[in-house]
Amino acid sequence: MNPAKKPKTIELALVGGDADLLYARQPKVYPREIDGRYTRLRVAAVFWLLGMFYAFPWLSWDGRQAVLFDLPARKFYILGLTFWPQDFFYMTWLLVMAGLALFFFTALAGRLWCGYACPQTVWTEVFLWIERRVEGDRNRRMKLDAGPWTREKIVRKSAKQFLWIAFALWTGFTFVGFFTPIRELASNTAALSLSGWEAFWIAFYGFATYGNAGYLREQVCKYMCPYARFQGAMFDRDTLVISYDAARGEPRGGRRRGADPASLDLGDCIDCNVCVQVCPTGIDIRHGLQVGCIACAACIDACDAVMDKMQYRRGLIRYTTERALAGGRTRVLRPRIVFYAFVLAALAAGLAWSLSHRSLVLAEVIRDRNALWREGRGGSVENSYTLKIVNKSDRALHLSATVRAPFALEIVGASGFAVEPSAVAAIPLTLRAIAPPAGRHDVTLELVEEATNPKDAATVRVVTRYFAPEPNP
Ligand code: SF4
Ligand code: SF4
Repeated sequence: MNPAKKPKTIELALVGGDADLLYARQPKVYPREIDGRYTRLRVAAVFWLLGMFYAFPWLSWDGRQAVLFDLPARKFYILGLTFWPQDFFYMTWLLVMAGLALFFFTALAGRLWCGYACPQTVWTEVFLWIERRVEGDRNRRMKLDAGPWTREKIVRKSAKQFLWIAFALWTGFTFVGFFTPIRELASNTAALSLSGWEAFWIAFYGFATYGNAGYLREQVCKYMCPYARFQGAMFDRDTLVISYDAARGEPRGGRRRGADPASLDLGDCIDCNVCVQVCPTGIDIRHGLQVGCIACAACIDACDAVMDKMQYRRGLIRYTTERALAGGRTRVLRPRIVFYAFVLAALAAGLAWSLSHRSLVLAEVIRDRNALWREGRGGSVENSYTLKIVNKSDRALHLSATVRAPFALEIVGASGFAVEPSAVAAIPLTLRAIAPPAGRHDVTLELVEEATNPKDAATVRVVTRYFAPEPNP
């Protein structure tokens, strides 16, 4: 076979002449610290997001925990709202919105989620910050790892491990605090009387945080995250991505500060490698858009600082589009972006409307399965039911019931019911009619809250069936 006609796949598999290279051990990444506008934005996002995570379970709302996912009671408390299993479709709604938001932001500006809001990025920032404070800057960390186990190395590594584990356990504790009242959890922890499940989940989530943010770091983004794999399908030539301007930067090469690149026949890239050193995933953005790029923009800040020192124009690495790099005009507002934005806005408005008009009372009428009807005195026919009322509000409900039917039908006994706050009541109910028409009839039960202000009164209607026999000949 002519070697020139070898299948391309084989050439790729044996790249470098050594198939083992495909499975080469990943070298540890030592990201260099950097300052700049995008770094400050990322730090602000870390404070904001982690601030919400660690603070929310401690906040109170109407005398209870502001955010609590009470799984045993099957109720989710989010600020002033209580969600019941019947409200599960809101979760589906939110997931649809989250998926669409991912499409929208990815089509607009690439992996914004990964760079600024993904828990992996956010917690890795904190673990990295601890590592830097304890072990020093990039060079010192590399020297420390390469050097022998001296007393200083043992002390620094132990201190880092202690802080990492403490922070990871605090994270695990906070996570569990979203599912069980956190103040109780704190006193149980202090008294060493945690339940087995609480201890397990604190340790499990703490360990996951420690492992992912402390050790796996960029490996999660590169090899485990599915989003990294399919995000390319959401990009187009007008998506804003972090790119190196090769036309401006090449040919790269070293030179004196302030030297005129044109006179040296060079591009603006001085090949200082700082953009690679600051990259948390250890890639070189000058090789083009890669699956390992989490769009953290650290390389933009690094290169801008270098450009400032060289007195060159900023933006050799910048947010730009494939079309703009090829000399075209960036089109941010394109049909798919407008479509995503419109659907997202409609879903958000629908959710807000639905939440504000959500009925806090649910009622269900379940027929007695033993008998379709029962004959009473004076030719009356009775049907029996169980009336189930769910009070999703935080106030006690007093409801009065009326029944509507195409013939005279009445409720036997009391027609007023009380339901405790956040409770479900199962009430026996009997409907009676004198000499009703034979057959099956749809009847409506209306429950109206006895409120001082009729505008605030909850009203709920349920349709059920009433059966009557053929009259005796
Ligand atoms: S930081 Fe800028 S100048 Fe330095 S190597 Fe990277 S792209 Fe080139
Ligand atoms: S290439 Fe730049 S934007 Fe991408 S991960 Fe590395 S530093 Fe962040």
